[in-house]
Amino acid sequence: MSRYVTHLEGAIDGTVLPADQLQTLHKDRPLWVRYDLDAIRRAVSPEQVARRSPTMWRYRELLPLDLEAEPVTLGEGMSPLLRCDRLAAEFGLRHLWIKDESQLPTGSFKSRGLGMAITMARKFGVQRVALPTAGNAGGAAAAYAARAGMEAYVFMPDDTPIINQLECHAAGAKTFLVNGLITDCGRLVREGKEAMQWFDLSTLKEPYRIEGKKTMGLELAEQMEWRLPDVVLYPTGGGTGLIGMWKAFAELAALGWLASDQRPRMVAVQSDGCCPIVRAFDKGQRFAEPFPNAATVASGIRVPAAVGDFMILDAVRESGGVAAAVEERGIRDWLRLAFSREGIAVCPEAAACVGALERLTREGWIQPEERVVLFNTGAAQKYPEALEVTLPRLDKNAPVNWERLLAKVHPGA
Ligand SMILES: *Cc1c(COP(=O)(O)O)cnc(C)c1O
Repeated sequence: MSRYVTHLEGAIDGTVLPADQLQTLHKDRPLWVRYDLDAIRRAVSPEQVARRSPTMWRYRELLPLDLEAEPVTLGEGMSPLLRCDRLAAEFGLRHLWIKDESQLPTGSFKSRGLGMAITMARKFGVQRVALPTAGNAGGAAAAYAARAGMEAYVFMPDDTPIINQLECHAAGAKTFLVNGLITDCGRLVREGKEAMQWFDLSTLKEPYRIEGKKTMGLELAEQMEWRLPDVVLYPTGGGTGLIGMWKAFAELAALGWLASDQRPRMVAVQSDGCCPIVRAFDKGQRFAEPFPNAATVASGIRVPAAVGDFMILDAVRESGGVAAAVEERGIRDWLRLAFSREGIAVCPEAAACVGALERLTREGWIQPEERVVLFNTGAAQKYPEALEVTLPRLDKNAPVNWERLLAKVHPGA
């Protein structure tokens, strides 16, 4: 363990568990990693961090790996925070940024969580991992397992985006398609554990994925000069990213690194094709009921039941935020809007956040002067199904009638 990790803590009841051994769930619920923040404050400053290389490992003291140990890394982290004035103007906003996680290894922010989880699993001697995935987690797990020389088993719904299926196989993972949802895949991993002796890397079923995803919040704070934005929009599936960022902000506040006390209102965005968290939020419940017949092109947020549901809902409520569902049928248009205005390859999940931004600005919940950050959690190019279009064709032997041809070009460009 890093010399700053003090213990693990059951998120449901605060039970203290030792951090020097492999841990999974406590009472079927996730664990927090806790640090000696006073010791970290004495050991390192933001100025020192600023001189380190631009990967998520620059926050070394706030991460669970021993300071001397080598991580399993593909160079993940320090994704750009891009100002989006053109897109902002669409919604009457002055200050909008996209934090572009599509540029990370394997094309999604999953590289942060899986890089960390596999680094820690290797430290504890794990040689075989398995996980259910809605898509990108599988790709990242396969890549980092390969990097670590570990064996990986990946289970995904049979309608997972084709690139996710192919990348897992190409990266050497034993990849299986299941005629069900991610929850069915999760059951296969759980039930296969005894026979296959693998370590279950499911979202939040081991404590370290959150710590990797937490680095999104640390980077955001550093990139905004330790002054957090007013609103963060985040596409929420299993919720580790949102939970991790909220934890990051709390740790930074405790360290005294933040320039002001103000923390962002967190918006958990889902599609109305799968919105268990939004339903629980609207009903004032702390736990979410499984969402029936989950269906959305934004596969990363097609998670009908999340073990960390209460952690997501707690964070959203504590922040003064909201859980918002957008119309599934708008996702392709929002994707094209953001991509064509800013050149940022937003994935369908982030496109849902664009939809939420449209609504929340229209309703006045977000004010024109507020500083808003939207997370692009993955690369549009990983979703050929969502981008599908029939392009006009040219005959190399025929004369071109430009007027007729241009009339065929997809409108709205
Ligand atoms: C996994 C995933 C999400 C959801 O992330 P959580 O932190 O698990 O809620 C969102 N977008 C993309 C592209 C993903 O792959």
